[in-house]
Amino acid sequence: MSKLIRGRFAPSPSGRLHLGNMASSLLAWLDTRHLGGEIIFRLEDLDPERSYMDYARLMAEDLRWLGLDWDAGWPEDAGYSQGERGEYYAAAFDELSRRGLIYRCWCSRAERLAASAPHPGEEHPGSCACRGLAGKALAERERGARPPAYKCMAPDETLTIIDAHLGEFKQNLAREGGDFIVRRSDGVWAYQLAVSVDDMLMGVNRVVRAADLLSSAPRQSWLIETLGGTAPEYAHAPLLTAPDGRKLSKRDGDLNMAELRRLYTPQELTGRLAFLCGLIERPEPVEPAELVGGFDWAKVPAGPIDISGVF
Ligand code: GLU
Repeated sequence: MSKLIRGRFAPSPSGRLHLGNMASSLLAWLDTRHLGGEIIFRLEDLDPERSYMDYARLMAEDLRWLGLDWDAGWPEDAGYSQGERGEYYAAAFDELSRRGLIYRCWCSRAERLAASAPHPGEEHPGSCACRGLAGKALAERERGARPPAYKCMAPDETLTIIDAHLGEFKQNLAREGGDFIVRRSDGVWAYQLAVSVDDMLMGVNRVVRAADLLSSAPRQSWLIETLGGTAPEYAHAPLLTAPDGRKLSKRDGDLNMAELRRLYTPQELTGRLAFLCGLIERPEPVEPAELVGGFDWAKVPAGPIDISGVF
């Protein structure tokens, strides 16, 4: 018997869904349904300062409006919002600590951002002097007023991901990814830890999301395997770009669903998205369900998709 595929929608409720989010959501749904799998809706509301429940409700409603559905998830089912899953992140954190993989980091946000900029070929881009602190220097930091964040040490291992859309992707976790934050200094659990723990415990074995997260996939696979799970398969969807080449984002207020729902019917919007993604030959109205049978990643472009002329 072939294994049951389990995919997911995992939006963060920091703004209204935009065109790019809708394209990746449509592809995630088509991928899972084409494989006869089920799909869950997980709310990624880790950051209390950037999570708004009004957006969360609208996100679920916008996906349903387009014609996408799911088999379990927030808010109908308990345990599908990250805000209520702290105990699982804490257990994973303890396990990583027991293995000696966690250290405290006192760097400021600015120092961290500087440290995390990609410097090809440099050792441990995301690590910092805090990793080697000992003796007097460590005692001094511990006495200071600033609470530490917690980082996980990335091993010097090269991982290969076989992305179902993009093919082979190799990354040396230490040199190209670097150490990464698992808990912020204000106690908030960090994305890399939460998403890995959730995908593992929710039985997600197929992750379809936008290509800007491809570079996180090796780290997440490694975390899941380190915690005793099996890494999911990944398929990263092309980013949609504005005519000036910029990636669409919630922050820029780019074509969000409030506007799109005023301009198009669900079938018109699906048709335009499906056309941009190479799934149909003309941007004509269509239901997502009509695209399931013919869905094939080979039709979808690998690189960014310029929306001009269609939106
Ligand atoms: N919550 C993330 C976002 O909305 C997606 C995380 C993921 O798919 O791994 O950008």
